[in-house]
This record gives sequence, C-alpha cells and structure tokens, in this order.
Amino acid sequence: MNTMKIIESASQASVYVADIKASGQTIGFVPTLGGLHKGHQLLMQKAREENDVTLISLFLNPMQFRKKQFLEYPSDFELDKLIAKEMNVDMIFHPTVEEMYQHVTQIDSFFKFQQQEFTQRHLEHFVVEEKNQHGIDNLIRVPSSLVYQLDGKIHPWFFDASATIVYRLFKILQPNRAYFGEKDIQQLAIITKMAEARFPDIEVVGVPTRRDADNLAFSSRNVLLSAEQRQSALSVYRAIKHGENLIKEGETDADIVLNTMTEIIEAQPLVKIDYIDIVDNKSLESVKRVSDDIILYVAFFLNGIRLTDTIIVKV
Ligand code: AMP
Repeated sequence: MNTMKIIESASQASVYVADIKASGQTIGFVPTLGGLHKGHQLLMQKAREENDVTLISLFLNPMQFRKKQFLEYPSDFELDKLIAKEMNVDMIFHPTVEEMYQHVTQIDSFFKFQQQEFTQRHLEHFVVEEKNQHGIDNLIRVPSSLVYQLDGKIHPWFFDASATIVYRLFKILQPNRAYFGEKDIQQLAIITKMAEARFPDIEVVGVPTRRDADNLAFSSRNVLLSAEQRQSALSVYRAIKHGENLIKEGETDADIVLNTMTEIIEAQPLVKIDYIDIVDNKSLESVKRVSDDIILYVAFFLNGIRLTDTIIVKV
C-alpha cells in the first residue's frame, strides 16, 4: 500500500520531485482547485496509467475567482484526501495562498487585479509581468490571440490567473506530463501553448469530459444544484447534442445551429446563457460556416451558479 504524502511547502515539494527524477521515474501531474469529483478522478487515472508517480495539487487559486465565488467554492480537504488516496496518488501538493503568492499581503488584492483589463498583451507571446501593482509577482499575461476567444472575451483575467498558477506549479513540480480536461477547452489550449513556449519538457495531455449517469458533466459546483436546477442544467447538454446532430446531418450555417441550441436552452426558465459559441477546434475563433472540426460551447448560470458544457464535433 502506498503512503500518500501531503506537502504544503513549495521547496519541500521541489525536493520530493528532485528525488523522484533522480531515481529515473516519470511524474504525472493533475492540477485542481479541490472539490474532487469523478472528472478529476479520470485525470488521476490517466496520470497513474502513463507515469510512475502521480502528483495532484489542491489549491483554490483566489486569483481565478470573484470574491463571492471564492468564498463559496465547495471543497472539502478531508474528502479530497480520501479520493486521492483511493486513486493511488503519491503526493498532494496543498500550498497556502501565502506560499504561492509571497508578495500579496491581502486577499482582496486578487479581486482588485480582475477589475482592470490589461491592455498591453502580446498578440502571440506569453509575457511575464514581473511585479504587479497588487503585489502579484511573475504574473503571466496570455497572448491576445488566445485569450480573446470564447468566454475569455468576458473574463480575460481568468486565463491570466490560471496560466500564472500553472506556471508556478510546473516550475515547482516539473512533471513529465500534466493532465487537463477538455471540459475547460480554452484553458487546455492556453496551457498547451504555454508549455510549448516555456516548458518544452512537459507534455500537456487533454482528457475528455466525464459525465454522470444523467449526462451532466461532473463539476465541483454540481453539489450546489437542487434537483430541479440539475434537471434544467441538462437542457444545455441536450442543446449541444442537438447541435452536434444538426452538424452531422450536414448543417453548415453556424447561426442556425446556435439559434436552435439557444431555443432549447431558453425553453428552461431557470437557465441563463452567459456565453454560447461555435468555434474552430484549432484556433478557437468563432466560425460562421462549419467546414472543419468545431467546438460547441455554452457557459450558463443557474441561480448564480456558473457552469459550462462543451463538445468537440469531428466533421
Ligand atoms: P478544476 O478543479 O475545476 O480546475 O478542474 C481540474 C481539472 O479537471 C481541469 O483540467 C478540468 O478541466 C478537469 N475537469 C473538470 N471537470 C471535468 C470532467 N467532468 N471531466 C474531465 N475533466 C474534468
């Protein structure tokens, strides 16, 4: 039986990793915000299958959240530990906010950072902002060609936050492979590009979305849904499946597909669409005509709870 280590300090985590690498073993890494579910378990399973040692991080990154959502995020460290142990995880990296952001003195600094859009993005390159006015050092600015797609148009700062934390985690843990869900398709695309540019030794592996028996994609926030809200959320899955079928039957007009999907979702009064789009699978740019593999993507609110669903359609 393996003993699972829990490490809070970045320097100790680096020492642990150095020992593993010195012994010639490979490392698979799954970064998470905590609130582990069966989607996360699929990522851990892949990491386990493809590497000698499996590491996960449990870190609720305040930079990725609005304050209210940060404070209300459903995660339970004791339960997460049990799940990780069940999945034969070798080490959980569980740093404090202070450990990851040593120069930030107040949690509110993260929420202030989100309020000002950064206007000096490079079109194609990831830029490291050495010192931010809010005390965030080494902040990663995602190139505009990647960030202003899908709902990055609504909250570009979210992807800077996600890239910033993954950049730090990669530096500390130096995995051979890192596993990310296709469910967060824009994050997967951005981290893949960032690894190519900055961490050529790390392979980013995309993992398909895992769904519950009723087809709702697993998400940490699902526990916040009432039975009635959950039923309504399923209209989004029905809409994207319907969109997929239309395309497979030969529909190439993206607006027709989007309008039909919107009608299906809006028939449920509880669901409020935040962002809906059909984008090219490679560039993530919105398409008018479907001629290549595309992604159907919906971000939506149910009583203030934000969820997303997406599928890749191979044409
Ligand atoms: P999170 O803790 O929400 O940041 O998720 C951690 C990782 O798990 C991300 O790479 C997600 O894309 C992935 N993930 C979340 N939900 C699912 C799911 N239902 N199936 C597969 N992967 C998922």
